[in-house]
Amino acid sequence: MKYVSTRGGLTPTEFSDILLEGLAPDGGLSMPSILPRIDSATLEVWRRLSYAELATEILSLFISDIPKSDIRALCEKTYNSANFNSEEIVPLKKINDKITLVGLSEGPTLAFKDMAMQFLGNIFEYVLAKRNTSLNILGATSGDTGSAAEYALRGKKGVQVFMLSPYGRMSDFQRAQMFSLADQNIHNLSVKGVFDDCQDIVKALANDLAFKEKYHLGAVNSINFARIVAQVVYYFWAWLRATKDGAQRISITVPTGNFGNILAGHIARQMGLPIKRLVLATNENNVLEEFFRTGIYRPRGAEQTYKTSSPSMDISKASNFERFVYDLMHQDGAKVKALWDELADKGYFDLSEEKHRFEPEFGFLSGTSNHQDRLNTIKAVYEESGIIIDPHTADGVKVALENLHEGVPMLVLETALPLKFADTIKEAIGVEPALPEHLSELMELPQHLTVMDNDVAQVRAYLQVHIQADDK
Ligand SMILES: *Cc1c(COP(=O)(O)O)cnc(C)c1O
Repeated sequence: MKYVSTRGGLTPTEFSDILLEGLAPDGGLSMPSILPRIDSATLEVWRRLSYAELATEILSLFISDIPKSDIRALCEKTYNSANFNSEEIVPLKKINDKITLVGLSEGPTLAFKDMAMQFLGNIFEYVLAKRNTSLNILGATSGDTGSAAEYALRGKKGVQVFMLSPYGRMSDFQRAQMFSLADQNIHNLSVKGVFDDCQDIVKALANDLAFKEKYHLGAVNSINFARIVAQVVYYFWAWLRATKDGAQRISITVPTGNFGNILAGHIARQMGLPIKRLVLATNENNVLEEFFRTGIYRPRGAEQTYKTSSPSMDISKASNFERFVYDLMHQDGAKVKALWDELADKGYFDLSEEKHRFEPEFGFLSGTSNHQDRLNTIKAVYEESGIIIDPHTADGVKVALENLHEGVPMLVLETALPLKFADTIKEAIGVEPALPEHLSELMELPQHLTVMDNDVAQVRAYLQVHIQADDK
């Protein structure tokens, strides 16, 4: 399996090379040159596998420059019940006759990003050791992505994490989760500013190419294809658990922000997994819902991005969306490049002429929800089943209910546990979700962080002290 760029300019590259890079040199995103196809006989064999075994089978289709026995070891090290609070890793939970939740939030930070990030941490360590090199992850977080990255990379050899977060602006739980990590390779830099200030500092340092090279800076952002492919696994897992025979199709609703999670579903479907419909759910920030409704893609700026009660979906420029457009354009990199040039020029592009293909060819439907919908949905699900869902999953359940089809089971991806969003849960049902037993001591642990001014120079100086420079 080799990787090419969505804009056509990358010479086919191995997995380990794209693993440590961000954008392709032509500004596009890496994609497999051809997707493996899975037939129904193979699916039946896979029904008997554990999650780690299934992950080994699927990941080794995409990673041809690492021996399968090593991929197996990495999957076993990742997908076990020491890392995930469930023997099954991804449990399915029925909330009523119509809808089943796919439990993607049993990892250490209680959200679906752990599913891919935990694997990423292990494969980073493996590839860095093979290449006898090191990497320093520099990132900004408003809470969730940063903690998933830190829990994935804590204690890993060859990697340090420098995570900027806005001082005084995270919830008690988020602070306890991130700052309680005592690993030497984890650095929490708490910046006196807002999230955008943190992000600006990261950009300023990452754009200084000489500095970036000298200090081996990297990122673990959502465009990393290793994250996407690790997410493909749970679509297969969910289908295998929700069906009895190969002829059965299911639909899956996915709460969406950066189009990363649902892109993995698209890839699973293109590989031949019997998914009838992929239903994309957004909150008030509905750029993607608008695209699937109209064919027009018009990203919005920060000032037009609402702050909502499903904050991890407050995104108005979906960084993985280009990968879907690449498939829509029949993998023609020149056409994708032209569309993104047009986007840079005019602020939008119009694919309404392709709209008739979205559902028949790719299974895509979409819908949107708002704060009141989330409250109503959390309450209705709780009263019916006793299950408390988080606000992002509620966006999914609301849109799923509008897209049910007779005889087709509907799954909704549970992207976080409610505990992380206790205020909204309290508003919806009057009670706060309890802290799971295995985390009962978290809030009491000592916290480790370095407070800094909103100043690039201070962060730069901190990196210079803590990273051994590469002077070659
Ligand atoms: C990141 C995140 C999402 C959105 O996932 P994308 O891959 O960006 O579409 C949804 N819900 C939660 C809880 C998240 O953390």
